[in-house]
Amino acid sequence: MALDDAFEVIDKRFHRYAIHNAHIDHLWTGARWAEGPVYVPAGRFLLFSDIPNDRTLRYDETTGTVAVFDQPAWNANGHTLDLEGRMVACEHRGRAVTRIGHHGRREILADRFEGKRLNSPNDVVVHSDGAVWFTDPTYGIDSEYEGDAAESEIGASNVYRIDPSTGAVTAAITDMVRPNGLAFSPDGRILYVADTGISHVGRACPPDIRAYPMNADGSTPAGGYSTFATCTNGVFDGFRVDATGNIWTSAGDGVHCYADDGTLIGKIRLPEVVANVEFGGIKRNRLYICATTSLFAVYLNTRAATSAAG
Ligand code: MG
Repeated sequence: MALDDAFEVIDKRFHRYAIHNAHIDHLWTGARWAEGPVYVPAGRFLLFSDIPNDRTLRYDETTGTVAVFDQPAWNANGHTLDLEGRMVACEHRGRAVTRIGHHGRREILADRFEGKRLNSPNDVVVHSDGAVWFTDPTYGIDSEYEGDAAESEIGASNVYRIDPSTGAVTAAITDMVRPNGLAFSPDGRILYVADTGISHVGRACPPDIRAYPMNADGSTPAGGYSTFATCTNGVFDGFRVDATGNIWTSAGDGVHCYADDGTLIGKIRLPEVVANVEFGGIKRNRLYICATTSLFAVYLNTRAATSAAG
């Protein structure tokens, strides 16, 4: 049987990840800008954001239905789970990174850096040591559309780390224009970060994913970076790393898959601009795709990188 037409094989390495009788599931439409998906294995559901409509939605994998999980939702954007399986959210309007505790209440993990309010946290990942890493571009304060318009107090868009024992917030990466999606390599030794600063400074900021090597204990970047990939259609926004180190990233024409050597090996072409992806399903081998108004999914012959939460 032929591959679904949506799959585009660019490098033969991509063949092993595409399942020949799988197809793209168009699960739901109705968002204004779908973003921030996180799969919650214990509940078999996917939470995702509809940022301009200020709501968090829940796709129930057992019934196939989408319902409102939270509205208003602080114009939440990126989500992840921490090592205890608690949901961590980046809030544009809250200008904070928050967590829903086991008691069900919202707790603020970070809303300031050196006394100044954060811009509008965008995406978040948890290192295996428990530290929460997040990006803080200005998209949620640039206009009233995805948050409350405001001037940046910090005057820069950085990547921050929240220390797992002290809660202290440090600026870990300060040389980007608008850091956006981020993820660690499976061994935790590389932090990948997308820069979408082309939205503010044009081609002076190419739409790259950078690779920042980490120190041995994974708590700080070792210094310097390399350009991992430059987007060939639109920009890289959110992305995920699979168990073998491939990066599955959002792009203008669908999902792009990069091998860990930075080669674009294949695409999943979709009719809407993709903002973010997440591995879900019991085996974590189903890629959920937030694409502008719609939620798509496809089973792949790979799975999420192992983490304590998933
Ligand atoms: Mg983003």
